[in-house]
Amino acid sequence: MYLAHQIRLDPNNVQATYLARAAGTARFAYNWALAEWKRQYEASKTDPTMRKPSEAALRRQLNAIKREQFPWMLEVTKNAPQMAIMQLGQAFENFFKGLARYPTFRRKGRDDRFTLSNDQFRVDGERIHIPKLGWLRMRESLRYTGRIISASVKRVADRWYVSIAVDIAIDTFRPLLPPAENQGAVGVDLGVAALATLSTGERIIGPKALGTLLDGVRRLARDLSRKVRGSRNYAKAKRKLAKLYARIADLRRNSLHQLSANLTRRFHTIGIEDLNVKGMLQNHCLARAIADMGFRELRRQLEYKAAWRGVQLVVVDRWYPSSKTCSCCGHRLDALELAVREWHCPSCGALHDRDVNAAINLREMAVSSIASACGGEGAGLAHTCKVKPSPAKQESSCKVNYG
Ligand SMILES: [Zn+2]
Repeated sequence: MYLAHQIRLDPNNVQATYLARAAGTARFAYNWALAEWKRQYEASKTDPTMRKPSEAALRRQLNAIKREQFPWMLEVTKNAPQMAIMQLGQAFENFFKGLARYPTFRRKGRDDRFTLSNDQFRVDGERIHIPKLGWLRMRESLRYTGRIISASVKRVADRWYVSIAVDIAIDTFRPLLPPAENQGAVGVDLGVAALATLSTGERIIGPKALGTLLDGVRRLARDLSRKVRGSRNYAKAKRKLAKLYARIADLRRNSLHQLSANLTRRFHTIGIEDLNVKGMLQNHCLARAIADMGFRELRRQLEYKAAWRGVQLVVVDRWYPSSKTCSCCGHRLDALELAVREWHCPSCGALHDRDVNAAINLREMAVSSIASACGGEGAGLAHTCKVKPSPAKQESSCKVNYG
């Protein structure tokens, strides 16, 4: 399993200049290769003797001319231009597979990054060695042990980070972290009002400071729009806004890490819904709230942390009507408006909190699926499995509230 540890870097001014130059070189090479790709592709259409472009050929082409035409490229690691072109090749591959859009040019300020292959850097405690730069201080040492794959250096607002990818061999008999406390199974309903609602009735609210920070974003964005583009004040306002965005992203990530750690520490079976984030984002008024909550990121974190602790993560098919189904008797409503937070089951009379009920259903789905879909329980295997709802209703006893 590949994992990346992102570590803040502490460059001095000279080092920061090098990092910016390496990122600039990577961006230049990427954009050069993209323009060449388009040109060569068009040429190959009219002249069939011309070859279709490829990233390997473009790398060779750049290597042949860079000493002459772009001598400044030699001042930074050779990885900066090379890996950028390889990434362009990957971007085209994703495009041809229909996984991504057509590659676009990298922009200064937004795409300030470069990548190092594992033979071009070394890590020693709280420092990293980069060619033609030397040792650079990191704020912490690499957390994971395993085969180091690559490192990506990037700028976020005014800070530099390195993200080191490590191939971790997971030993299923000896998880990386102490196994989960045996609190049984839990269902997790992801939402907008609350970040998550657990089948235990707990509600996890997202970071509260976010609202205040978003007000700040609105204010700074307004400030920025009043400045003259390209002026010193414009650049200053832009930097401020970028810093605030970075802070919001940090907060959000932190709250998701707390939630995923909490869940994988306590429960040995976790049921979550396979949300169609893309579809939900099209719903305009909810869009930002959902994006803020970062469901996709939470799912990613749960997947690897579950593997570490030997927890079973069950992703329930997104068509399973977890909200509309009564967790007491299995009665299914035809429709349940999003605004309805509580409802009475017309069949058994139970009073349901919308989110808790959904979470309980997800827990039941997770438990019932493990034996059938994923082999015997307690096999000690950590894995994620996807389940589709079976037409048979699960039976569970629960208190009925007549209210
Ligand atoms: Zn019912």
